[in-house]
Amino acid sequence: MVDPSPRTAARLHGIEPTIFAEMSALALRTGALNLGQGFPDVDGPATVVDAAVEAMRTGRNQYAPGPGFPELREAVVAHQQRHYGLDVDPATQVVVTAGATEAIAAALLALVDPGDEVVVLEPFYDSYVACIAMAGGVRRGVTLRAPDFRLDADALRAAVTDRTKLVLLNTPHNPTGAVLTREELQVVADVAVEHDLLVVTDEVYEHLLFDRREHVPICTLPGMWDRTLTISSAGKTFSFTGWKVGWVTGPADLVASVYAAKQWLTFSNAAPMQPAVAEALDKETSFYEELARELEAKRDLLCEGLAGLDVDVYVPEATYFVTTDVRRYGYDDSLAFCLALPERAGVVAIPSQVFYDDREEGRHKVRWAFCKERAVIEKGVRRLAAADLYQTGG
Ligand SMILES: *Cc1c(COP(=O)(O)O)cnc(C)c1O
Repeated sequence: MVDPSPRTAARLHGIEPTIFAEMSALALRTGALNLGQGFPDVDGPATVVDAAVEAMRTGRNQYAPGPGFPELREAVVAHQQRHYGLDVDPATQVVVTAGATEAIAAALLALVDPGDEVVVLEPFYDSYVACIAMAGGVRRGVTLRAPDFRLDADALRAAVTDRTKLVLLNTPHNPTGAVLTREELQVVADVAVEHDLLVVTDEVYEHLLFDRREHVPICTLPGMWDRTLTISSAGKTFSFTGWKVGWVTGPADLVASVYAAKQWLTFSNAAPMQPAVAEALDKETSFYEELARELEAKRDLLCEGLAGLDVDVYVPEATYFVTTDVRRYGYDDSLAFCLALPERAGVVAIPSQVFYDDREEGRHKVRWAFCKERAVIEKGVRRLAAADLYQTGG
């Protein structure tokens, strides 16, 4: 893509293009192994693909209802009940979106006025930065710091001002792989109640946790349901990242606000995929249980491989990703390291520095994806081990 026109509206000024597209294009151009962008290289259940094909063949090809087909909203409700003991009303408390990405955009456009502050975990998922900016909001990062990326309660409290409108959470967290504990979430809940803040929480990795860790939706904490919008998606849970079927649940008034924005963004989305995702939610529980176990083994494979390099490895508790610190290789920053990596090693990774306002904390961090076949990870590790990764001569 060329640079945006100088006639581009001010709301997009200073928003960098998404790093994932840039690094995946680099992988294609150089033929390097892509351990960058987080998409699995094996698709989700064939039965679910069959259900989508069947939906197309049986004529579900016109607009879905804006809030989503009733069967998918019912399946989301049953999922929330089964996993978290929540009683969600399918008629008023669920909206289906074009992936979690649209849910995030619609929630922020619906709830953030120009000048409102949004407290957000840093490193950020990159669409948060863009959507806060497009809403005219101001981001206030709370940095999860290496090596263990715990939530710093004092930093959270310090980030809240009388202009704060909402807290944008992400747990399990991309890119660090941290899972917020019940105690950490309680700190967020206490701050939200004390300052009467809304919480928007991106939980797309809700099922992809390791070492028997437990995912706690913050909306299940006392006093939080009425102020929380919870976002998830079939992309990560069922390995269909290209389908872009997500959903938002929460109190009826906030869900209605999200829908008020969503109906003017896409109106409705992915009609034939919706019944398929409903079936997946109802019947494919073992798929994501198994996926989590496989990812845990792949995490170990990649982390052990990276541990043989001259890097610090921060072993993740969940998600598709592991972070390393590459400062000993002598590059100024992780972007320079990642731009040189295809040529030096035939591998693409993501420079996490672009997810930080705190440049010093982010500067030498690199994110690697392990949602890939074992042979791909092994090959990537072999290439890295064989390569000269040191920057020499200035
Ligand atoms: C992948 C991802 C998304 C996007 O989800 P889609 O359903 O593909 O739109 C949102 N948030 C996080 C943290 C992600 O990793």
